Amino acid sequence: MQRHREPVTVEWIAEAGGISVAGPGAVEQGAIELFGKDLSDSAIAYRMRRDRELGDASARPCAEAGCPRALPAAASTRRRYCNFHLAPHSRIRPFRERRRSALRRRAAVRAATADPRRE
Ligand SMILES: [Zn+2]
Repeated sequence: MQRHREPVTVEWIAEAGGISVAGPGAVEQGAIELFGKDLSDSAIAYRMRRDRELGDASARPCAEAGCPRALPAAASTRRRYCNFHLAPHSRIRPFRERRRSALRRRAAVRAATADPRRE
């Protein structure tokens, strides 16, 4: 990948976000308004290219089946799940369900094969 050499300008930022900025510190202020924090020029260029090529992350749906939530606006390209489905309780759920059904199956087998004389 080639490094970004072009400086970030007021016009560029205004075009990207449709915000009107002017005066000293406008570029920095506009960048903070758009991206939420003070990023380097190359980081801003990267994010703008990413958004242009892949669309806004907040428009991408969560990868969990039936989840209506969108991804956070600052999501990376690799991110697939919303905040809810990325949380530990959501990630551990399939394993807990599998274990619960295994225990239930084992209890059913034990009940069916139990020796009535030993009870
Ligand atoms: Zn989700």
